[in-house]
Amino acid sequence: MSTNTNNLPPVEALQALANQLFNALPEEAPKEVSFDPYEHPRATAFAKSITGEGVVPGVGVPVDEAWVQSGGPAPFAVSDPFNGIAAPPSATGLGASSSIASYGNTNTALPGAGEGNNYLPPGYEQTKSDQSTLNGGVPASVAGSGASPSYVHQQDNFSIKEPVTSFPDSNIDKPAGSKDIFALPYAGEQAYWSDVESILKLISISDAPSGISPLSPTADVHTPSFYFLQSREQPVQNGQLGGFTSGFDAYKIKRDFPILNEKVNGKSLVWLDNAATTQKPQLVIDRLSYFYRQENSNIHRAAHELAARATDAYEAARKKVQQFLGAKSPNEIIFVRGATEAINLVAQSWGDQYLKAGDEIIVSHLEHHANIVPWKRLADKKGLTLKVIPVDDDGQILLSEYAKLLSSNTKLVAFTQVSNALGTVTPAEQIVAMAHAAGAKVLVDGAQSVSHMPVNVQALDADWFVFSGHKVFGPTGIGVVYGKEALLNETEPWQGGGNMIQDVTFEKIQYHKAPNRFEAGTGNIADAVGLGAAIDYVTQLGMANINAYEHALLEYATYHLTQVPGVRLIGTAAHKASVLSFTLKGYSNDDVGKALNREGIAVRTGHHCAQPILRRMGVETTVRPSLAFYNTCEDVDRLISVLKGLVR
Ligand code: PMP
Repeated sequence: MSTNTNNLPPVEALQALANQLFNALPEEAPKEVSFDPYEHPRATAFAKSITGEGVVPGVGVPVDEAWVQSGGPAPFAVSDPFNGIAAPPSATGLGASSSIASYGNTNTALPGAGEGNNYLPPGYEQTKSDQSTLNGGVPASVAGSGASPSYVHQQDNFSIKEPVTSFPDSNIDKPAGSKDIFALPYAGEQAYWSDVESILKLISISDAPSGISPLSPTADVHTPSFYFLQSREQPVQNGQLGGFTSGFDAYKIKRDFPILNEKVNGKSLVWLDNAATTQKPQLVIDRLSYFYRQENSNIHRAAHELAARATDAYEAARKKVQQFLGAKSPNEIIFVRGATEAINLVAQSWGDQYLKAGDEIIVSHLEHHANIVPWKRLADKKGLTLKVIPVDDDGQILLSEYAKLLSSNTKLVAFTQVSNALGTVTPAEQIVAMAHAAGAKVLVDGAQSVSHMPVNVQALDADWFVFSGHKVFGPTGIGVVYGKEALLNETEPWQGGGNMIQDVTFEKIQYHKAPNRFEAGTGNIADAVGLGAAIDYVTQLGMANINAYEHALLEYATYHLTQVPGVRLIGTAAHKASVLSFTLKGYSNDDVGKALNREGIAVRTGHHCAQPILRRMGVETTVRPSLAFYNTCEDVDRLISVLKGLVR
C-alpha cells in the first residue's frame, strides 16, 4: 500500500476512482488508467493478441489475466464502450456504403464497417451529411491499431540506429479479401460487430464484370483491351452504359463523398475536375481526424505510446502503398509531397549523381511540366541533352520515332502513363522495355493513372514510379516515389537532416537505407495515413471495376460531347482515360468554364501545366472535364446541356 506525505488518499484509491470515472463515460473505447508509467493494459493485451497469447475463447480479444485478477476491468471483454449508446448500425451508417459492398464479397469487412453509426467522440459534431453518408466517429481502416506493437517490441532492445518500424500489422498482412483486412483498430472489442456482419449479408451483392476480379487490383496488370474506345456510336444500348452491366452504382458511391452534396450557385455540384484533384471520401476525412485525436506524435524517435501509434499508422500506410502498386517491399516506397516533389527528388539525387555532360534524357511530348522542368534544369546544369518522343495528331506516342531516339547515350526515359491534358494512355510497358534494352533507367509519372487503372510496378518494370495522393482520393501534400530498392540504396540522399541518418559526427555521416534515406525531417505523417485510407477505399471498390466503369462513362461522354456543334475534342487517342479536353467554336475557354460554373459544374480551363502538348495540338488552352468513378451519366448530361444551351 502506498503512503504519501500530503494527506491525500493513497495512490491506489485515486487510481480506482479514476478508473471508475472513466469506465462510466460512455463514448470512448476502453480506457485504463494506471499510474505505473510502464503499464498500459490495452497495449499489452493487443500485443498479446499479436503473439497469440491470452485470447479468451468466444470473445476473440485478449485479456491480460493479471490485470483482471488484480480487480481491474478486463480491457476489452467486459466494458462495452458502446453499450446503451448505439443501435446496431444501419446499412447506410456503415460508412462503406452498400455500393462498396456490391463489389466486395460477403465475407469482406468493408472500409468503415464496424463503426458505431451513432457513436461520436466528445467534441465531434455530427452533421447531416455525416448521418446520410458515413459515420463521423471512429474512422474506418485505421492502420495503426493503437496497440502499438512497435512500442511494446522496442521497449527492451530499442536501437536508435535501426529503429524498428515495420511491424507486421494484422490489418494489412492478410491476403486481399480476407475478413478483417479493413478492420478497425478496436474492431474485436465492439460488441455489435456481429450485427454489422449480419447486415452486410443482407446487402445485395452484384456481380462484377465478367473476367474481372473485384478485389485484386493488381490481378489485371496489363491494361485490358476493353479500355480502347470502341466507337463513336451511341454508347447506351438497352439502357446499359456501353454494355457495362456490373451494377456499379456511382450514385451510392457519391454518397461517400460529403462535398458532392454541396450546392454551387444554387445547383448541386458536379465535380468534373478530377484530373486536377479528386474529392475525399468520408473514410479519409475520418481517418485524418482520428489520427489527430488519438495518434498524433512525431514518428520513430520516441519510445512512448503515441509515437508508436503514429509510427505504426505511418508504416502501415507505406505498406498499403506497396501493395497498391505491387512493389516488392515497403522499403521501395518513399513518402514525399506529391508527384512534382517525387520527380525533383529523382532528378536531384540520382540525376545529379549519375548523369554527366553528353548524356541524354528522353521525355514524351505529352508530359506535364512536372516531368519536363526538373529534367530541363538538370540538363542545363550538367550539359545533358533533352530529347522528345513525338505524338501523332490524335495525341498517341509514336513508338517508331521513339526507337530512333534511343541510343547508348540515353541514360533516362521519363514519361507519363496517362496524359493529364489529353487523356492518352501511353504504351508504358513497351516504352519501359525499349528504354531498358538501350540500357537506360525509366521513370513513369503515374499521377493520372493510379486513380483510373490497376498498376503493378513490377510488371511495368519501371525503375521509379511516382504519384500524388490527392489525385487518388487522398489528402493533398502527400505523394509517393516508388523506386527499386537496390537503386534507391545506390543513390545519395537529396535532402539532409534528421530521420535519414544512422550516425552523425562532424567528420562523417552515415545514412539510413531507403526509405528513411530519402525522408529527411518530419514528414507529412497524418496525410500519409490518410492516403492509406484512400487506398483502402479504392481497393475495396476494385481498380479493375473502376477502370471498366470509367471507360464506359468516357465513351458515353465522348459520344455526347462530339454531338455538340462546334466542339473540337483535343486528344482522340484510341486508348484514353478520364479526360475530355475540348474547345467550343465561338467561345473562349474561360467563357465556357464560367457558363458551366454558373450551373454548378466544375471543370478546368487553361493550359493544364502541359503547354508543349497543347501547342502541338494547335491550341494554347482547352476546357477539360475529367471523370472519376463517382461521376454519372447525369453529370455528363448536365455538362452537355450547358454546352448545347450556349451554342443554341
Ligand atoms: N504529372 C501529371 C501527369 C499530373 O497531372 C500532375 C498534376 N496535374 C503532376 C504530374 C504534378 O502533380 P502534383 O501537382 O500533385 O505534384
